[in-house]
Amino acid sequence: MKPAAFKYVRADSIEEALSVLAKYGEDVRVMAGGQSLGALLNMRIVTPPIVLDINRIFVLSQIESGRTVMTGAMVRQADALSSGAIRRDVGLLAQALPHVGHYQTRNRGTLGGSVAHADPSAKFRSCLQRSAAKSSCARSGMSAELRRSNFFGRLS
Ligand SMILES: Cc1cc2nc3c(=O)[nH]c(=O)nc-3n(C[C@H](O)[C@H](O)[C@H](O)COP(=O)(O)OP(=O)(O)OC[C@H]3O[C@@H](n4cnc5c(N)ncnc54)[C@H](O)[C@@H]3O)c2cc1C
Repeated sequence: MKPAAFKYVRADSIEEALSVLAKYGEDVRVMAGGQSLGALLNMRIVTPPIVLDINRIFVLSQIESGRTVMTGAMVRQADALSSGAIRRDVGLLAQALPHVGHYQTRNRGTLGGSVAHADPSAKFRSCLQRSAAKSSCARSGMSAELRRSNFFGRLS
């Protein structure tokens, strides 16, 4: 099947993405790796008027390590798998990653996309719920840090 027609918008910065979200609200669907969204669009399970591509926001692809490990919303699963910081400090995630999908899906799929998609059977969701991880969410003019239970509680 083919998706219903939508307007494709690509953001080059977080500020640009937030302003698109602020302007169009519920009409926007964010696209990260597209591994789950592509199927949802093709089967017309979702028919958003606007798809916002965040793949060019390179700052979201970074993994920072210090006292804690911080992964941006666009960190690919393959990059997380080869990250020394994640191997060293986030053992549960490091153990789960090789079992998520396969090479092709890990090369495109992101940690953020998996968490946002919130499939009850997804491995990252389980990792998040069983660790002390926190998720940061932002909207234009505000941001919030949510603990695991609050994050999924608010999504459902
Ligand atoms: C063949 C195949 C096998 C798979 N096997 C497994 C597996 O074994 N285990 C497993 O856990 N997962 C598996 N997955 C799922 C995979 O991990 C996907 O990559 C993941 O679910 C979605 O990540 P994505 O980056 O592709 O997100 P996308 O498909 O781009 O987005 C998914 C959803 O999240 C939303 N979204 C994405 N990013 C954001 C954001 N920053 N802000 C707000 N909303 C956002 C999108 O709008 C969409 O609704 C598999 C997928 C495929 C296709």
